Amino acid sequence: MFFHGTMKVNEKGHLEVGGMDTVDLAGQFGTPLYVYDVALIRDRARGFKQTFDKLGIEAQVAYASKAFSTVAMVQLVDEEGLSLDVVSGGELYTALAADFPPERIHFHGNNKSREELAMALKNGVGCIVVDNFYELELLEEICESLAAKTKILLRVTPGIEAHTHDYILTGQEDSKFGFDLQNGQAETALQKALNSSWIETLGLHCHIGSQIFDTTGFILAAKKIFEKMAEWKEKHAYEPKVLNLGGGFGIRYTEDDDPIQASQYVEEIIGEVKKQAEHYSMNMPEIWIEPGRSLVGDAGTTLYQTGSRKEVPNVRNYLAVDGGMSDNIRPALYQAKYEAVLANRALDKPEETVSIAGKCCESGDMLIWDLPLPKAGEKDILAVFCTGAYGYSMANNYNRIPRPPVVFVENGESKLVVKRETYEDLLRLDLPINEKIKN
Ligand SMILES: *Cc1c(COP(=O)(O)O)cnc(C)c1O
Repeated sequence: MFFHGTMKVNEKGHLEVGGMDTVDLAGQFGTPLYVYDVALIRDRARGFKQTFDKLGIEAQVAYASKAFSTVAMVQLVDEEGLSLDVVSGGELYTALAADFPPERIHFHGNNKSREELAMALKNGVGCIVVDNFYELELLEEICESLAAKTKILLRVTPGIEAHTHDYILTGQEDSKFGFDLQNGQAETALQKALNSSWIETLGLHCHIGSQIFDTTGFILAAKKIFEKMAEWKEKHAYEPKVLNLGGGFGIRYTEDDDPIQASQYVEEIIGEVKKQAEHYSMNMPEIWIEPGRSLVGDAGTTLYQTGSRKEVPNVRNYLAVDGGMSDNIRPALYQAKYEAVLANRALDKPEETVSIAGKCCESGDMLIWDLPLPKAGEKDILAVFCTGAYGYSMANNYNRIPRPPVVFVENGESKLVVKRETYEDLLRLDLPINEKIKN
């Protein structure tokens, strides 16, 4: 069985998370429901941060909030002393609303607008990760008009292919992100940034991909970047204070996935950066990393109620749930794989193989293919594991399905942190073209 974090099965045979019976949670808050194991999020955060602390390395661990951004999550990140990545005005707004210290916010994105950059500067955001020449010029202009200085990292693409699904690969040279390290663009950007009196260039950033299971890619990236940094030290008398190696640390969605521990990623990355710094006689930079998925992914479980069945003799049995690609688009978008159990009969032996269908009008709206499960009836609760990253954050209103609520559980207590969307919420922005509307 695929239990993790604080999960266990109680005397009723029900799945428990954070000391809470998930069948009770489904009863209290309804389904679909996102449940987060807060102790596991804290554990994951400490796994990264404490390894740097223990080894005495100056570092920032920035949670990539695009994986799951809500006020409560941002506050939890603050409680754990992490920094925070945002990639849009909306994520920044969420962070500021949660009273997250702006100096520990890093602002990413390949097409930040004038308004977004101005919002960041006015609110004292600690670091802007500059992605392209357009942004560099725009930023300089906005700094000047606001008479505000800013700190930046330059995002570079070192041309490393991380082994992962193509759609979520961002570190290769044919990428929409960042300045190319090999063809001279990164160096030109550095010169421009160094010439600016408004901009302080803290260092370099790269993000080589997602769902990466070892450190080979990070080590290669560090090597390539140090090669250039050594060159630039000679030419421009510039040594970066910060080297940000991005996120992408893998998690175990199914038993086929085999990621290493957070501490091992961190130790190996530190080892390589130290080695490179010594090799080129450069200062040891601060190391920044940006885990998203690995902080929240396996801490999230989605609870659904099972409903209709369709049996296609000799082909497949479909079992439908009361959600789908509206609350978890990853299977449709990336052919992502998940595992699941019946939360109300967690110890029952599998009796059949079913494929879990969502309720959206889209043949591709399938959550799990060929899942061994006890024979599920009309009123069973299906718990899909590891939905904590890019589930709620990519949730949508396709078919005008309201988005599910989010509940945090910890030490036998539950706390609603995002309310269920209502039908009224769905109409909140709609405007009629005539008087015939009911209210
Ligand atoms: C998406 C992203 C991350 C987080 O990636 P995960 O795979 O969720 O760890 C970190 N940094 C940048 C720049 C990103 O775009």
